[in-house]
Amino acid sequence: MESCIFCKIIAGDIPSEKVYEDDRFFAFRDINPKAPSHFLVIPKEHLPGVAKLSDNPELLGQLMILSVRLAHEEGLADSGYRLVINQGEDGGQSVAHLHVHVLGGRALAWPPG
Ligand code: AMP
Repeated sequence: MESCIFCKIIAGDIPSEKVYEDDRFFAFRDINPKAPSHFLVIPKEHLPGVAKLSDNPELLGQLMILSVRLAHEEGLADSGYRLVINQGEDGGQSVAHLHVHVLGGRALAWPPG
């Protein structure tokens, strides 16, 4: 999608610090990290958010499995980490391209603000 910032990152039109890429998924470090480790895992297909995924459990499953794998490759398996998907305005979603936040490297507060 032309106007989508994450689609531009996938295309290489906006620079990013890449963590992982395959034919379906891309992961890169968050530009405004909220934890010592904070990266985003996204499908290359433009989907506006998790709310639109009811007809695609396979993609959501692969996205979550990859996020766990990358968290472990980041060295977070023992200390723990958090996977977050924000949806819509009240959920705090600011970019309308489905993404999983992977956060770790410090004790994260609960509940989130
Ligand atoms: P959300 O608020 O859940 O939609 O998350 C969007 C995330 O994208 C935020 O944590 C932003 O810091 C991050 N972000 C926005 N633009 C960029 C960018 N150019 N490179 C890396 N991360 C970005």
